[in-house]
Amino acid sequence: MSPAGATADVLVVGGGILGCSAAWHLTRLCPTARIVVLERHGSVATQASSQAAALLTRARPGAVVVMPLVARTFAAMDELADELAQPLPLHRNGTLHAAGSAAAVGEQQALAATCAEHGLRAESLDLAEACRLVPWLNAAAVRSALLMPDDAFIDPYLLADAYARAARRRGARFRFGTEVTSINVEADRVTGVATAEGELHAPVVVLAAGTWANRLAAPLGAGLPMAPVRSQYWLTETDPLFPRAHPAVLLPEARAYTRPELGALLFGVREPASISVDPAALPADTSGYAFADDPDGWASLEEGAPSLRRFLPALDRVAIRRYVAGFSTYTPDSLFVIGEMPGTRGLFVASGCCGAGIAASGGFGEAVASLVAGETPPFDLAPFHPGRFGPVDPSAPAFRASCAAARSRKTAG
Ligand SMILES: Cc1cc2nc3c(=O)[nH]c(=O)nc-3n(C[C@H](O)[C@H](O)[C@H](O)COP(=O)(O)OP(=O)(O)OC[C@H]3O[C@@H](n4cnc5c(N)ncnc54)[C@H](O)[C@@H]3O)c2cc1C
Repeated sequence: MSPAGATADVLVVGGGILGCSAAWHLTRLCPTARIVVLERHGSVATQASSQAAALLTRARPGAVVVMPLVARTFAAMDELADELAQPLPLHRNGTLHAAGSAAAVGEQQALAATCAEHGLRAESLDLAEACRLVPWLNAAAVRSALLMPDDAFIDPYLLADAYARAARRRGARFRFGTEVTSINVEADRVTGVATAEGELHAPVVVLAAGTWANRLAAPLGAGLPMAPVRSQYWLTETDPLFPRAHPAVLLPEARAYTRPELGALLFGVREPASISVDPAALPADTSGYAFADDPDGWASLEEGAPSLRRFLPALDRVAIRRYVAGFSTYTPDSLFVIGEMPGTRGLFVASGCCGAGIAASGGFGEAVASLVAGETPPFDLAPFHPGRFGPVDPSAPAFRASCAAARSRKTAG
């Protein structure tokens, strides 16, 4: 597969969940290829992938093309459990969609229709049953409740680690502490990457550098159509109102989602005006990143509290233990960025996660591995093509605003 002198057949830049999934799928589809994952930090999934709430929501009426990629993650988790002889700690608690307004009931009907069309289980619950399952839910605020019993959530680090361990067992190598400083291209064809320790040669590079992917793409004259946008959630103290095994809850009117976290409640609120940051201004480590506006999230929580409180009256009583804020890369149309970079043969992108990179990680990995292997991908990848917006400047404020708006519009998990 490689020209003489190549260091590897495929270099994967980034050891987040998407790089790990890509590596595992590559070892399966290209079993003799030398796959090397380059990660600048000391282990897998130190960035967005370990911060995620990690809801694995299957039904996405606003983006049905994403659904097969999520289904692939569920199948991948079974395959990983077999390969590693160890079940993954998946919380199969389901998702409850709670609607209080006519508009939200309409959304819920669309969700039920999407489930029916795609063979996903969805059960209408009476309010007494909904409140039995979710004891903190204010029945007076809810007109209609729909349970998707096959949804789940997982510790995202453990899923990323499972992809990585399975990839290693199949021969992939991981080089930690290796920062890629540029992607090398000759005559429109990728030839490898430069790192602080020297050049690494390969005919194929998979760019899975998450929030930083645009930093590496920019010198090639190719802006990826995505921008880093703040994602955030809060964790309460433990409370008997929050049973360990209750469902995740989607509250579209409050732009909020919740899930149980060891007897506490994790809840995320999407701001009406989400915050995007210039990718050129990001530090290499964004864990603990303090956003210039609203560094502790309190302004955002106060803004979202009136809508959330309607459904979760205990909001004023329970103490908040922790605030987590990080980045997801959003695109203007809320669809991923997967495919060969226009103008640079051999450079494949797996990014633009739109806050669903854990849920769709299996699909991302299989899609990009199929492209590398020259096989027909099992999903329609046209909607995710990196060139679908034409030339973009990911640092331009207007472009970033369109990406931030995509997050604010999101009502799925
Ligand atoms: C608060 C929050 C909540 C979320 N909730 C959910 C959820 O409920 N469900 C869901 O599906 N998703 C959720 N997400 C989104 C999810 O975390 C992302 O979609 C996913 O982690 C993206 O994975 P990644 O591999 O692209 O990025 P990352 O995990 O950030 O990995 C990118 C990796 O590339 C490395 N890298 C970058 N540049 C270089 C370089 N030059 N050289 C070497 N290495 C480099 C980085 O160090 C990093 O390890 C959430 C995200 C956040 C922040």
